[in-house]
Amino acid sequence: MKQAIEIVIVGGGISGLAAAYYLEQAAQVQGLALHTTVVEKEARLGGKIATQRQEGFIFEGGPESFVTRKPEAWELCHELGLADRLVGTTRPGKNYVLHNGRPAIVPSGPGSFLSSPLLSAGGKLRLLKEPFVKPRTEASDESLGSFLRRRLGDEMVDNVVKPAIGSVYLGNVDAMSVQVSFGRFAEMEQKHGSVVKGMFALMKEKSAARKASGEPRPAKKPSFATLQGGLMELVETLANQIEGDILPETAVATLQYNPTHSQPYALALDDGRTLRADGVVLATPTFVMAELLDGVVETAVTDQLRTIPYNPVTTVNIAFNRSDIYDPFDGFGVVVPENESSRLLAIEGMSAKFPHRAPEDQFVLRAFVGGQANPELAELPDEALIKLVRNELAGIFNITAAPTHIHIQRWQPANPQPPVGHLAMIANIERTLAQSLPQLYLTGAGLRGQGIPDCIRQSRDVVAQIMTNLTESHPLQQDF
Ligand SMILES: Cc1cc2nc3c(=O)[nH]c(=O)nc-3n(C[C@H](O)[C@H](O)[C@H](O)COP(=O)(O)OP(=O)(O)OC[C@H]3O[C@@H](n4cnc5c(N)ncnc54)[C@H](O)[C@@H]3O)c2cc1C
Repeated sequence: MKQAIEIVIVGGGISGLAAAYYLEQAAQVQGLALHTTVVEKEARLGGKIATQRQEGFIFEGGPESFVTRKPEAWELCHELGLADRLVGTTRPGKNYVLHNGRPAIVPSGPGSFLSSPLLSAGGKLRLLKEPFVKPRTEASDESLGSFLRRRLGDEMVDNVVKPAIGSVYLGNVDAMSVQVSFGRFAEMEQKHGSVVKGMFALMKEKSAARKASGEPRPAKKPSFATLQGGLMELVETLANQIEGDILPETAVATLQYNPTHSQPYALALDDGRTLRADGVVLATPTFVMAELLDGVVETAVTDQLRTIPYNPVTTVNIAFNRSDIYDPFDGFGVVVPENESSRLLAIEGMSAKFPHRAPEDQFVLRAFVGGQANPELAELPDEALIKLVRNELAGIFNITAAPTHIHIQRWQPANPQPPVGHLAMIANIERTLAQSLPQLYLTGAGLRGQGIPDCIRQSRDVVAQIMTNLTESHPLQQDF
């Protein structure tokens, strides 16, 4: 009997699980005998996706929803039969910025921008000039801060965009790559000379394409979606549909490559076993990729992988009796600019965004603590952390009631902070790997975008590359 091609995937977060799932799907379609093994260091699958279901609450310790504008997570949920379990936001979210210690609504249209207290008259005028600001001529990467400051002015960046982005990426907009975080807007500037013009052009293109195809306007998707059982439901369903082996509580300790062996990769596990593989997908944070590739590939690659910074963050879900709260916060979130005295990064309205996450008589907020701004606060012991969060909520929302439930999740490190030039560096790393380590691939949040849809997209791309390479190198293994 012919031996199936063995692909080992290191890391059982969304990137690793999506890679295993799509590999099996693709192999089945192509009639290729292929077996996957996912190795996950922790007892729990999901990596940063960490839902805790408890007494009628769904506490999310990591991601709490995904955007549907990037379609991959939405599509995966449908492919997995989870369409009925999806819960979308039912109204456009109100987003706030802390301003003089109080939440000020982020304007969502030109009219509301003009009346917003977040920008001075000069800041508003500068914003209106965006369509007329000369585009940058070079196509090379720059920092997100530099891009936004050029296009929208300093005030808009410092008072609105910087805290919003900082709370999502937990980093500094003036250091991170625009190509990774907002590549779409950078492309609009290159193509149309302005972000505003680019957005109008995109809307026109979409409408023209739809008219030309004669297709009806697609049903409107919610902007954000999650699952009734929390995002862990995606992880659980994905894991159940993977036919290969999943090894939780098992870390890959070292990786070796021997091109003369029929299965050239040997992965030593921390339980003493060794897995042999024809191909490997590394779906871990980038500093773990560097450790595993030490001595296997030239040091320039591992050194580069080690330069990608990560920051710590701790999330604190905090629930109150609704009856104890005079004026429940109705927004999706409040972000905190650097010039405010609050020591939180952001506060999210967890039950305002998705009411199903808490019993009806409860109201849940989630505080983000740490990030690049205050990494030491992410390490505070539980008691001090809770005190900090409660003091902040008292100051910002006048909430002084005793919480009914608290859920703390620590991420050390949390999200990658792709610096300027990141995409070019990743492309370079991948070129070197392709030349020296055939059938070894990288995927995950540290590479080309860290949202859940980005991770799934990257794993789908890696699967497409694997299948192309496999069908070229193993033509006889196909069942036709
Ligand atoms: C607090 C927070 C909030 C977020 N909010 C959102 C959000 O609302 N929406 C959104 O789209 N995204 C959000 N994100 C980002 C998103 O959750 C992550 O980028 C994504 O889940 C990362 O998936 P991954 O599989 O690439 O990496 P990870 O989830 O980090 O998975 C990597 C896995 O590799 C394992 N591993 C490491 N070393 C080894 C080893 N040696 N052997 C075996 N296994 C190993 C780890 O244990 C881990 O399970 C958030 C992230 C955080 C931290």
